Amino acid sequence: MSHCRDYFANSYTEARQKFLQSTTSAGYQTWHQQLPDHHGAAGEKLYMDFALCGNPKATTGFLMLSGTHGVEGFCGSALQSQLTDSGFFQEYTQECRILLVHAHNPYGFSWLRRVNESNIDLNRSYQDTSVTLLPEGYAQLQDVINPTQLRDDLSTPNDLQLEQYAHTHGPFQLQQAITSGQNVFPQGMYYTGTQPTWSQQVLQEVIPQAFTNVSEVGVLDIHTGLGKFGEALILHDYGHDTLSGQKMQQWFGAKQQSSAPSTSEVTPLVGTVGHGVTQMLPTTTVHSCTLEFGTVDLSQVLYILRADNWLHHHAALQDPQDPKWLHIKKQLKAAFYPGTDAWCTAVATQGQAVVQEMLNGLLQPSISR
Ligand SMILES: [Zn+2]
Repeated sequence: MSHCRDYFANSYTEARQKFLQSTTSAGYQTWHQQLPDHHGAAGEKLYMDFALCGNPKATTGFLMLSGTHGVEGFCGSALQSQLTDSGFFQEYTQECRILLVHAHNPYGFSWLRRVNESNIDLNRSYQDTSVTLLPEGYAQLQDVINPTQLRDDLSTPNDLQLEQYAHTHGPFQLQQAITSGQNVFPQGMYYTGTQPTWSQQVLQEVIPQAFTNVSEVGVLDIHTGLGKFGEALILHDYGHDTLSGQKMQQWFGAKQQSSAPSTSEVTPLVGTVGHGVTQMLPTTTVHSCTLEFGTVDLSQVLYILRADNWLHHHAALQDPQDPKWLHIKKQLKAAFYPGTDAWCTAVATQGQAVVQEMLNGLLQPSISR
């Protein structure tokens, strides 16, 4: 058995190899969907990969996704491979149907972007995007959120506007204005798109088939970039008095936070992967959450995402070897994947604990079931 650090890859291709190797060795059923019309940063083909195991007659399911936000996939991919390779899932395969989705957004994973091939944020896109989505404040801040020019230090002359907005409306409103999701500016940050993505169409086909006999499913979508450095944070949007909300508290205790209106200061999100899966499984009880691992400050994350958006839409650089390109990508990768031994070990340990808590919770008979 390898050390947990060994499962953290340096590229999408390497992460994919580790995932395929561990899931194939474990005897899981694996299959692949190639993203059409696009290639990766090294010219490679891009795939969403699937690994399925566990009793086909089980009525409980577990779904674990990596790479919804592309570059954040280094973390989730490592967890998937490590848990598979260590035989961790074996204990649960009698009673549970387990589906691992690797690189939900393979384009972003390979190109070190948080968004997909169409600049879409997949964790905002699982909603009705045929209607206009524009959070209050976004258009007003458009020049500073999506600048067409950036200084060498990645700032703009208008950055003060952000502070002024936060001062007038509060930091929570500022975050909501920027990050809630919009489909008016296709070259802007937090774009939801206006129609279902390739990733959504693929999952729509795969998930109901994988969980045919399942009546209750736990969904864990692995992310990075929110919370304290190396610490696990569970985000969901169930009210405390709902069945799923109670289960989240029961399973995860102090690690979990609800973004349901009036329960917290976390920006409530619409169009998350969890919302998508819930719609894909209309007769199944779905308990869905995001597992975040902290990296750097949120403001730092936003500045580097803005620079990456500028790089892909306005910098007029085509060469991924250009020093400016490399500089931004290096910072972006570090903001979502610090990659130090301490961070990787913390993530591996806590990640396993969270998966264990969810699986044990799903499988133990409880009064509210
Ligand atoms: Zn994320």
